[in-house]
Amino acid sequence: MSQPIYLDYAATTPVDPRVAELMMRHLTQDGTFANPASRSHMPGWLAEQAVEGARRQVAELIGADPREIVWTSGATEADNLALTGYMRANSARGRHLITSTIEHKAILDTASALEEEGFEVTRIAPQPDGRISPDSLRDALRSDTILVSLMAVNNELGSLNDLDALGDIAHSHGAAFHVDAAQAPGKVQIDVSRQPIDMLSLSAHKAYGPKGIGALYVRRQPQIKVDALIHGGGHERGMRSGTLPTHQIVGMGEAYRLSAEQFDADHQHLVAMRDQFVAGLACLEGVHFNTDIEVSAPNIVNLAFEGVDGEAMLMALRGIAISTGSACNSASVEPSFVLTGIGVPRPLALASLRFSFGRFTTAADIESALGELRHALTSLRA
Ligand SMILES: *Cc1c(COP(=O)(O)O)cnc(C)c1O
Repeated sequence: MSQPIYLDYAATTPVDPRVAELMMRHLTQDGTFANPASRSHMPGWLAEQAVEGARRQVAELIGADPREIVWTSGATEADNLALTGYMRANSARGRHLITSTIEHKAILDTASALEEEGFEVTRIAPQPDGRISPDSLRDALRSDTILVSLMAVNNELGSLNDLDALGDIAHSHGAAFHVDAAQAPGKVQIDVSRQPIDMLSLSAHKAYGPKGIGALYVRRQPQIKVDALIHGGGHERGMRSGTLPTHQIVGMGEAYRLSAEQFDADHQHLVAMRDQFVAGLACLEGVHFNTDIEVSAPNIVNLAFEGVDGEAMLMALRGIAISTGSACNSASVEPSFVLTGIGVPRPLALASLRFSFGRFTTAADIESALGELRHALTSLRA
């Protein structure tokens, strides 16, 4: 069987060949392999230079100072560090955290762990379009709220939050604002020098970089205090110890540099792919949009198929790599909590699939996917 058409870019992207090539030059004996913390020799200095160059590239994409970037193993760790590190470091001011019911599990499970530790958490329900309304945040804020954590782009729906409005409300109540922006690069532009964002989680592998590397942006002015979760050696200004993985870091830097350089081209391409896909759906019956296209990033279309089972659809669509619910839930048959969270009825939530496009998706891919979809629906409904 030939390779399936990959329409699961929201789960992970392939590494851009230009990124992979650069990473390769930071691994072997003839490359920049030394420990970037080695201060006593030239190979160590070169590795440090490579890491600091990548730190500037990541900072540049979001309008940060390079000193505000803390390397982590991915957005999951960045989310853990932001929430747990901030709540512990600032608990003298209050013990209340606000997030939403449709965040990534990296946020939701961390929030639950914080409750076990004695912190209090309010989880705001989204609007049916998947966005958090500023009013619902205003209602949830309390005098002891010290942190609000809401995502930039929802990973199952693509829905975009109004970060400026939400951050301003958090700040006007004296709470800090954290944003899980794992899905943002290449889809929405972020500029922390202008926006009311205090911490921001990033991942390389959702933007054509390698898996296993990410970063947390931590504002310096006014300074945000975060307790370390991983101790040993005091790397990353004490916030995250451990030998820095030079090859991963240069991979993330290059991926983000490319993301900035070709933002317009990437974005236009995603819109074209999405529009072609949506236009092709028009002739299919019983297709519901879980994604509200008007308020969502152009790379994700989440659909519900009336009168069919999601698992049966997935089987019938074996020529396309897609996911039911989010990748993290795909082992279970419970409906996606994100879909039920925006009010999709359980049977439709169970009959939903997420299609997500990327830099390497072609018009021919979309055409074939539509053909398979038409065929699967006809045979399953027969
Ligand atoms: C993928 C993703 C994460 C987790 O990122 P990793 O780098 O894989 O740990 C967190 N939040 C969102 C919104 C994501 O899409």
